[in-house]
Amino acid sequence: MPEISDLRDAFARRFGIHPRLIVRAPGRVNLIGEHTDYNEGFVLPIAIDRATFVAARARPDRTVRVHSGQFDAEDSFSLDAIERSTEHPWSNYVRGVVKGLLARDLPIVGADLLIESDVPLGAGLSSSASLEVAVGYALQLLNNINLLGEELALLAQGAENSFVGMQCGIMDQFMAALGRAGHALLLDCRDLSYTPIPIPPDVRVVVCDSGVRHSLVGSEYNDRRAACQEAVRLLKVRMPRITALRDVSPEQLQANADLLSPEVLRRARHVVSEIWRTQTAAAALQSGDLARFGALMRQSHESLRDDYEVSVPEIDTLVELALHLPGCYGSRITGGGFGGSTVSMVRIGAVDEFTAALAEQYRARTGLEPRVLVCTPSEGVSRAAAY
Ligand code: ADP
Ligand code: MG
Repeated sequence: MPEISDLRDAFARRFGIHPRLIVRAPGRVNLIGEHTDYNEGFVLPIAIDRATFVAARARPDRTVRVHSGQFDAEDSFSLDAIERSTEHPWSNYVRGVVKGLLARDLPIVGADLLIESDVPLGAGLSSSASLEVAVGYALQLLNNINLLGEELALLAQGAENSFVGMQCGIMDQFMAALGRAGHALLLDCRDLSYTPIPIPPDVRVVVCDSGVRHSLVGSEYNDRRAACQEAVRLLKVRMPRITALRDVSPEQLQANADLLSPEVLRRARHVVSEIWRTQTAAAALQSGDLARFGALMRQSHESLRDDYEVSVPEIDTLVELALHLPGCYGSRITGGGFGGSTVSMVRIGAVDEFTAALAEQYRARTGLEPRVLVCTPSEGVSRAAAY
């Protein structure tokens, strides 16, 4: 974790004055419920103990200066002309949030912002949402604006949708804003109602970053979303009242399979079955039935691999290796896919051996260097310091 005092010093060196405050917003890992959020279904993520930190101070003018420690780069723009940056694509996450605040007629002044993060970028742990929510929260505090966590999450999601061009669902930003320590949240992405589910104390959530990144993530993701919309459009012929795949049961999909092309049917089958699995898994977790929970994680992975086709061979290898290790209840791809990370649920006494063996066997099989994180379910965005 970046030291708060180091952040304060780095800010002072760069901007010649100390920051007014520092906020942190966590990344997240989704235990089950993948590609269900934009279908108005359920997800079951935890916020993790990795976060984006933003040190901030208001400026007397209408300029925003922003430095990213991860890119070792600085960008600056005016509140009166916020365009997409091609020179600093990372800055679009910041620009989008600022533009979203202004679009709500919220009174924002300029600011100096310094970003530091220990959420690995592009690993499926949602560094982007943690950045958006941290920036939004910092600006909220600097400008004495009161937004509910839900509103902040929606604003951050809107920034990523419209300004970055990534049609992500609400899960990532929701967790960065509203995650709860010690709990996963069963989040209904239709109405944003949620139920905290305690993570049993004798289990650990282990994330393994495959080290594989595919550049097509954005376009493939948007393509999957389009397939889901297409499924809804075609199913409406016989089910006129549905508005999202959330409204379709596995039985109804099967009965109307003839309306869909084979590919669209496979995409819809993943989503519809995954929404059921997520609700079932939350109930299993609530009652401490980790064997059942793990079995549903495995089914989720198979569905994402075979029907939704968002896995890659390296990720399949990680899952297969994990499932053969002692103490592992379940393992699956997590995040949007096309590389990124896996998530496994592991018995606490077996965690050290699990992480060592998984890394070693993955290295031997692929020649790639994995990064294993044992995660603690954490709180959503908060103020880390004020001066
Ligand atoms: P993920 O959200 O899974 O980490 P994304 O591709 O959605 O992956 O988001 C990663 C992008 O978000 C980075 O390439 C960068 O543009 C932006 N980003 C995330 N964290 C930072 C940071 N600390 N500084 C600057 N940009 C960041
Ligand atoms: Mg992201």
